Parts: sequence; C-alpha cells; structure tokens
Amino acid sequence: MERDIYDEDHEAFRDVVKEYVKRYVTNEARERWDAAGEVDRDTMLAAGAAGIIGLSVPEEFGGAGMLKDYRFRAIVNEEIIRAGAGSLAGAFGIQDDLAVPYLVHMGTQAQKEKWLPGMATGEIIGALAMTEPGAGSDLRGIKTTAKKVDGGYIVNGAKTFISSGKTADLIVTFVKTGEGNRPDAFSLLLLENGMEGFDHGKKLHKMGFQGHDTAELSFTDVFVPEENLISGKEGMGFVQLMMNLPLERLSIGVAGAAAAAAGLEWTLAYTKDREAFGERIIDFQNTRFKLADVATTVDALWAYIDRALKAYSEGKLSAEEAAKVKFWATEREWEVLDTCVQLHGGYGYITEYPIARAFLDARVHRIYGGTNEIMREIVGRQLAGKR
Ligand SMILES: Cc1cc2nc3c(=O)[nH]c(=O)nc-3n(C[C@H](O)[C@H](O)[C@H](O)COP(=O)(O)OP(=O)(O)OC[C@H]3O[C@@H](n4cnc5c(N)ncnc54)[C@H](O)[C@@H]3O)c2cc1C
Repeated sequence: MERDIYDEDHEAFRDVVKEYVKRYVTNEARERWDAAGEVDRDTMLAAGAAGIIGLSVPEEFGGAGMLKDYRFRAIVNEEIIRAGAGSLAGAFGIQDDLAVPYLVHMGTQAQKEKWLPGMATGEIIGALAMTEPGAGSDLRGIKTTAKKVDGGYIVNGAKTFISSGKTADLIVTFVKTGEGNRPDAFSLLLLENGMEGFDHGKKLHKMGFQGHDTAELSFTDVFVPEENLISGKEGMGFVQLMMNLPLERLSIGVAGAAAAAAGLEWTLAYTKDREAFGERIIDFQNTRFKLADVATTVDALWAYIDRALKAYSEGKLSAEEAAKVKFWATEREWEVLDTCVQLHGGYGYITEYPIARAFLDARVHRIYGGTNEIMREIVGRQLAGKR
C-alpha cells in the first residue's frame, strides 16, 4: 500500500538522510560501533552537521525547529534501520526522543541556551535515566535521592540499563526529592559528565544493539546545582515523564515498523537470489505464503503508524494510544522478523546478515520504553474506566 503522509519537504529530507547513510553507515562503521559497543562521537557530529539529529531543537538554538512534525524523525528512523544500523538508530532515538524533549519542552531558558545548541550538533550526547536495579516498571519505587542543600542537591543512588549511558554528557535523571511515592515526590535533574561522585559504571553486554552502549550509573554525594533542575520546579518529575513517554513509545513503534519493513525487503531479495532443489526459495509456495503474510502485516503496520504519526504531529496522540502503538507494532515486528529469519535459513542466524541483527535488536522493543505488559495495563485501565 502506498503511504501518503509524507510531502515533498519530507521526501527532500529523506534524500539528506540517505546521503548521510551512504557516507557514514558503512559496513566498516557498523563493525567499528559493534566492536566498541558504542557509536563514536564523529558519527554523531556528522549527523549534527547533516541536520538529522536534534530535529526538535528550535532554530534559535541551532536546531532544525521541527518541533511539532514528528514525521521527519520517523524518516530518520526508517532510513537508518533500513541500512541495517539499528544501533545507530537507537543512539539517535535516545538523543532526539528521550533527552532533547525534556529541554525543549520543559527546560528553563538558561538550560535551553546552555545545552540545546550542543545537542543539535552532536557535541553533547544526552540520555534519560529512570530505571534502577530495584525499580523498572514501578518507577515510583526508585531509591535515588536528591537532598536539597544550599544552592542545589546532593544525589545518591544508582541507575541501570541506561541507553547511551556510557557516552552521554548530560543525563536527565529521575530522582526522589520528597518523601513517600506520591507523584510530587519526584523531580528530574540534569547530571553532567565529570561531576564529582558521578560514575558511568559498567557497560552492559546485550543480546542485540551491539553498537549502542547501555550502562549502569552510580551517584555518590554528587552535588548538582539547582539550575540543573528541569523546569526549575521541584516535584514535577513524574508528571514530566508522563508528558514525554508517549513520544518514546511512538518512537519505538516506528522503529518496530521500520525493522519489519526492512526485514521484508531483505527477505524478498534473499529468497529471489538463493536456490534449493533447482528453484529459487521464493518459488516455493510456502515462501510466497509466508511473504504474503509478512507484506500484509507491514502494510497494516504502516497504516497504523501513519495514523499515529499524524495524530502526534497534531498534538492528539494520547498516552493510551501511544501504548497501543508500542505493544502492537513491536509484537508484529517480532513475528515478521522471526518469519524472515526462517526464510533465510542458516544465514538468518549469522549476525553478518542484517536480518539476524534486526531480530536480536527487536527483542528489547517489547521490554523497554515500558514493557508490553505495562502497555496493556495502561490501555486496559482506560477501558475499565480506572485511569
Ligand atoms: C537494552 C535496554 C535499554 C534500556 N534503556 C533505558 C534507558 O535509556 N533509560 C531507562 O530509564 N531505562 C532503560 N531501560 C530499562 C527498561 O525500560 C526496563 O527494563 C523496563 O521498563 C522493565 O523494567 P524491569 O527491567 O525492572 O522489569 P520489571 O519491572 O521487574 O518487570 C519484570 C516482568 O514483570 C512484568 N510486570 C511488572 N509489573 C507488572 C504489572 N503491573 N502487570 C503485569 N506485569 C508486570 C513486566 O512486564 C516484566 O515482564 C532499558 C532496558 C534495556 C534492556
């Protein structure tokens, strides 16, 4: 099915992304990121120079000013994933969908002036640290504290599973500033690389996203100046997270659809090329039936994602709708990629092939950004009238 949500400006932007892919998303680069377990800074700087990260940063702070229209971000996700570079797509996603929005939408003028220009160029890498060893789904169970002192806060605690956690310069950190677990007991503080007592900790070894760092962070009596409190208001952290989580979930849904679509393309090419029993793999009826299922699922994914993209860009995507998109798209992605791996035979299991990497990357889509069980909980609670 033809997609109709992109206009000429979007397609012109797609050409810019494709040009970036041609120059920087080479096999050699991908192998370099995988070996290092992180995307190197030069690749991020090149993305900044090409104008394909920091998309929502307003022009006055050096960004592209695409505050409302998320379709440009979706194009970046689509093209980077199609190039078989899930790790790079992950690194861009953390920057643009998890870190930058807290400054753009909720930062004080001083915070915007200080951080946004560097985030648009790639000189400043951002991350979002919510999860802790003892609290993931249940974020109100976090233990990291920020005690008010003269001129700032003293932060103690630990975070885990933080994407871009090793390479990040600036980490939007979810902390407890009050007693108990009421929503107003939490705040978001900007932790800076190099602050005394802040340790980036261990890089975690994952089954997928080999070229994107995920790390543990620890904070021991870290002094954070009060000007690093997001929005300058204490007790707003939980509400601020709730405001941005729909974007994170839409972003994961887009990545899931893009990976499924790419999987179809790779598998079509592979099954037309590979032969067995004197025939191309695609000439077996089983293959064609499986591919028919996959192609139809991909059409349905785009139809749904495109509606969500439009709704988000019009400011109309609710938290429940974003949760539906996240769990449904990532579960279809998983089924599609599993079928595509199978149609590749043994080569589908070899990580030199993009289908194998996409399959491994896909597994975490059902876990992070809120697990798919929690997504169903959000939708189910609304259906039951228990918001
Ligand atoms: C590669 C990777 C990158 C990540 N990046 C980040 C990041 O950048 N920033 C960040 O803050 N976090 C990040 N995370 C953390 C991620 O968001 C959490 O792992 C996720 O939210 C689940 O939390 P948990 O691991 O503590 O699982 P738990 O909350 O312990 O859940 C365990 C199981 O119980 C289920 N469960 C829990 N509560 C319920 C319930 N009420 N009803 C039904 N089932 C339930 C879950 O669905 C899951 O199946 C990342 C994780 C990974 C693996």
